[in-house]
Amino acid sequence: MSAIVAIVGRPNVGKSTFFNRLIQRREAIVDAVSGVTRDRHYGKSDWNGKEFSLIDTGGYVLGSDDIFEQEIDKQVELAIEEADAIIFMVDVEAGITGMDEDVARLLRKVSKPVFLVVNKVDNAKREEQAVEFYSLGLGDYYSLSSINGSGTGELLDALVEVLPESTEEADELPRFAVVGRPNAGKSSFINALIGEDRYIVTDIAGTTRDSIDTRYNRFGFEFNLVDTAGIRRKAKVKEDLEFYSVMRSIRAIEHADVCLLVVDATRGFDGQVENIFWLAARNNKGIVILVNKWDLIEKETQSVKKFTQNIKKSIEPFTDVPIIFISALTKQRIFKAIETAVTVYENRSKKIPTRKLNDIMLPIIEHTPPPSYKGKYVRIKFCTQLPTPYPQFAFFCNLPQYVKDPYKRFLENKLRENFDFTGVPITIFMRKK
Ligand code: GDP
Ligand code: GDP
Repeated sequence: MSAIVAIVGRPNVGKSTFFNRLIQRREAIVDAVSGVTRDRHYGKSDWNGKEFSLIDTGGYVLGSDDIFEQEIDKQVELAIEEADAIIFMVDVEAGITGMDEDVARLLRKVSKPVFLVVNKVDNAKREEQAVEFYSLGLGDYYSLSSINGSGTGELLDALVEVLPESTEEADELPRFAVVGRPNAGKSSFINALIGEDRYIVTDIAGTTRDSIDTRYNRFGFEFNLVDTAGIRRKAKVKEDLEFYSVMRSIRAIEHADVCLLVVDATRGFDGQVENIFWLAARNNKGIVILVNKWDLIEKETQSVKKFTQNIKKSIEPFTDVPIIFISALTKQRIFKAIETAVTVYENRSKKIPTRKLNDIMLPIIEHTPPPSYKGKYVRIKFCTQLPTPYPQFAFFCNLPQYVKDPYKRFLENKLRENFDFTGVPITIFMRKK
């Protein structure tokens, strides 16, 4: 998992402009692979070879112009809880406002690294004006212009310096995270699963963030459950905003191999669930969708089919995902859920021998080659699975830039048909040979 950086600040200071600048290059790649553009407030960036996740907290607040001060406070509180570093952005054009002072007051108390960023410093004159922000009591600041990019390098140098190293934990046990919207039944599911009356919530304040896995041995499977219990700690923070469920899912998702996405059957697969789904998919995590509270659904003959179709429509083009109808209450198909998660875990760590891969894929490619582009023919000569923790494939050819997304999706579908990758995102690279 990579370190998490949250951007906080009042509306209109330029948070999303800055966010977009940092994630643009990578997002373009990710979107080209998946063929979709989704949540624009969360993304990966990197600097000097160090990767981090970036969250634009403001992006999750609705009607940001008339935002309540209280909302900002909650936003900052949550960022303090969940992030490894915080970027507090202010606006030199507007100068210091009351809301800036409120945020600064909250941030002065935290021990995590806080970077005060004075934005919209587009020229030297504004550089002079920026000094007033010393009075926020947060020490030195970084001045930059999100629009033209000047000054961002200095900030990023300092930022990646303080971030913890990213780690792919080398435990051979599957790590499962139970994620979903508030009230979907996540804790009920975990209770049903681990057979305790209550899901014991340990106060992890003060302990390191890396020790949030708990080992379980259930139904003959051994796995680590990524502890999302921290989620419950601050009940005083209202849970109804999208921001909170997403923000709180991020760390669990990043820590997991497979995400069990719990959906409330009575509410359906709505936009917020979709966001969590894409969060997992973009992080190349395995996914199992659990449609919970199935006991509450008046069954008709087509119920399962209709639900399945609706979900698949929302998650196109990545539809090769298991969907299981469960009830945490009656424990219906709880075992099946875990069994499926284990299968998805195995699919995610599967390595197809190069010989076998080529024996299957080359004849398919020969039969249906990439369409010619500008009169040029693309010849794919060879493919191989990369030695990454999740499935990525490189196809070597003469003109990689001419292979477009539809053909990559065709290759992906053929891989899925011939080798079981259910529940697992696949990345395809075209490389020059
Ligand atoms: P957010 O509400 O904090 O996410 O702010 P936005 O990113 O939406 O930016 C608010 C406004 O400030 C927009 O009109 C941006 O074009 C403008 N803006 C953002 N960054 C800069 C900058 O570096 N210089 C100038 N002059 N304007 C900026
Ligand atoms: P969480 O916020 O996602 O952890 O959700 P909870 O586990 O706290 O469940 C929210 C509410 O849904 C509680 O009142 C549960 O009793 C109820 N609930 C959870 N799973 C089921 C289920 O399978 N069937 C029914 N009927 N209710 C459920």
